[in-house]
Amino acid sequence: MAAIKFIASACLAGVKCRYDGKDKKDKNIYLQVKRGKGLLLCPEQLAGLPTPRKASQIKIKQGRKSVISSSGEDLTRFFLRGANLSFRIGKRFKIDSAYLKRVSPSCGFGLKKIENKIPGVTSALFDKKGIKIYPR
Ligand code: SF4
Repeated sequence: MAAIKFIASACLAGVKCRYDGKDKKDKNIYLQVKRGKGLLLCPEQLAGLPTPRKASQIKIKQGRKSVISSSGEDLTRFFLRGANLSFRIGKRFKIDSAYLKRVSPSCGFGLKKIENKIPGVTSALFDKKGIKIYPR
């Protein structure tokens, strides 16, 4: 079996784990994962959030980053849990790069639009810990 080279947002490999119960399949990621080169993770599912679930957004309040659902529930603790679990799993496999879904309060990274420049909770942790992120 090929050595695992990278982490991939599970939805990019075709897993229907998004908040709306759909995927965002990227054919290249899917094929690499199928060949055993990528490790699938969905931080939000790892945290115990259901699928489908309410859409969430990152908000900055008094300098603190929170994740709030469309119904106003503060889900920050789930997003932090998902980020920490994802990092720990990646570390266990000695993975130092990740293909992450571009628009997401967990996996989002590297967006050009000003209002979306805040990285997702998982991608921010990966970045801080030195995992190279390739936004998709
Ligand atoms: S948390 Fe990441 S992997 Fe899970 S659905 Fe959202 S973007 Fe995809």
